Amino acid sequence: MPEIEFSDTLPGVPDAFQRLWTPHRMVYINGEGKPKGHDDCPFCSAPGRTDEDGLIVARGEHAYVVMNLFPYSPGHLLVCPYRHVADYPDLTVDETREVAELTQRAMQVVRRVSRPTGFNLGMNQGAVAGAGISMHLHQHIVPRWTGDMNFMPVIGQTRPVPQLLGEGRELLAEAWHD
Ligand SMILES: [Zn+2]
Repeated sequence: MPEIEFSDTLPGVPDAFQRLWTPHRMVYINGEGKPKGHDDCPFCSAPGRTDEDGLIVARGEHAYVVMNLFPYSPGHLLVCPYRHVADYPDLTVDETREVAELTQRAMQVVRRVSRPTGFNLGMNQGAVAGAGISMHLHQHIVPRWTGDMNFMPVIGQTRPVPQLLGEGRELLAEAWHD
């Protein structure tokens, strides 16, 4: 299992949901993780990395699926268009369709791998609505388990998040292509 180097340039959305793994929030509190422009947008740079380094689960033609660096629960995925676009109405028909198809497939794969009892799906549009990286839209796929608010902090404290994310990515990527 290759070590995933923790990087504040990997895709992640710090403010969408309540934080459970607070140490990693410090990256954002210190202001290091906020992209300043298109050039250091993590959602633009991730596809240029290997799947392992970029924590990418699957790649489509117009959009891709990536582990959220700031997960609310294990298997918290993001579906992003490759194109740097902020506003959902600005997606092309092809991008819209593939973001939807990848979201459906991601739910199937996460169900098979970790059997959640529910999901939160959605997009935060604009910083005021909770988008941590508002300039490049992304669809959240957050698996939920009954009682997860209680046991997740315990899991979060027992293992380093990057390792957890790397293992999770591998499981999901394998299941994706089954
Ligand atoms: Zn971007």
